[in-house]
Amino acid sequence: MIRSHNFSAGPSALPIEVLEKVHQELFDFSGTGASIMEISHRSTTFNSLFQKIETDIRYILQIPENYKALFLQGGATLQFSQVPMNILNGKKKADYVHTGLWSGKAIRSASRYCDVNIVASNEMTGFDNIPLQEEWNLSSDAAYLHYTENETVQGVQFNYTPNSSVPLVCDASSSLLSKPIELNQHGLVYASAQKNIGISGVTIVIINEDLFNMASNSTPEILNYTSLAKANSMINTPATFPLYITGLMLDWLISQGGIAEVHHRNKQKAELLYDTISSSGGFYKNNVIDEFRSISNVPFSTVCSDMDHSFIKTAEQNGFKGLKGHSSTGGLRASIYNSISISEVRDLAEFMNYFMTKNG
Ligand code: PLP
Repeated sequence: MIRSHNFSAGPSALPIEVLEKVHQELFDFSGTGASIMEISHRSTTFNSLFQKIETDIRYILQIPENYKALFLQGGATLQFSQVPMNILNGKKKADYVHTGLWSGKAIRSASRYCDVNIVASNEMTGFDNIPLQEEWNLSSDAAYLHYTENETVQGVQFNYTPNSSVPLVCDASSSLLSKPIELNQHGLVYASAQKNIGISGVTIVIINEDLFNMASNSTPEILNYTSLAKANSMINTPATFPLYITGLMLDWLISQGGIAEVHHRNKQKAELLYDTISSSGGFYKNNVIDEFRSISNVPFSTVCSDMDHSFIKTAEQNGFKGLKGHSSTGGLRASIYNSISISEVRDLAEFMNYFMTKNG
């Protein structure tokens, strides 16, 4: 079996231990004589799996007692609408920080439900930093403040938790479980699973119970956080197989030493790549200001787009996948989520140096 070093931004690489377990349990999950995909979500077997997933995520993230963890569908993209549907609480305005492609999408979706006040934007400088909170133009009548902790496309990441007097809402799709998060500073945190939490099909919403019972009347029950919490995230059939993978990912994360350990490794991996870029004498570039460089996604480019194409092609031939930059930015990007090992990142850094020597 030959597996590539897979630096895809998502869906992204899974740990080999997780894939092996899936392989082993595929035809007979827990003595049921059926795969996890073939049993009822109302069965005792599935119910105990689901309860374990909830217990594990609460333990790993130290979720406070007055917060619920919901396991939903529709991706983070649905949350862009589901959040305002549920927590505007009759208000007409919400504050958003614009830091890159994903917060831009969140803003466009929320604008259908309320007036969006953009408290700060770094668009003018090409999304190369996180605007200083002292300079944000917060409104006095916002229902909540939304930010995107890590911009997966631009590779710019918050290095602090914003202060907020209204519920703080965080899109943590590309960073949840990769570093600690101060949940009690947040009203709501959401993340789709296909980076650090499993595969696409599951979206995690961690919500302070104070935000229940606020949904607008037109919110369908299937999108109402309060109803979803009452139904244990199962108003309808949940995404059973993706949930099973989330369970395996949580087991794996615990076996690796939890968030503190993976955070330590993630910082080391990021440092290796940023060092390779900055010591390349300008052959490789990353435009993000040092202190806001992402530890999950490292966008970079070579001297020209033809060279970028040649980098991607040569990388593929040498067993490296998923290094093409996002279609909106072009260039290159290495995503180094929890499943990517330090040694894989070392191999990539070595390849980057090799490519530079041949083409520089
Ligand atoms: N938010 C961020 C920060 C993301 O990185 C992504 C996907 O990459 C999304 C939202 C959208 O997630 P989904 O495709 O699961 O809706």
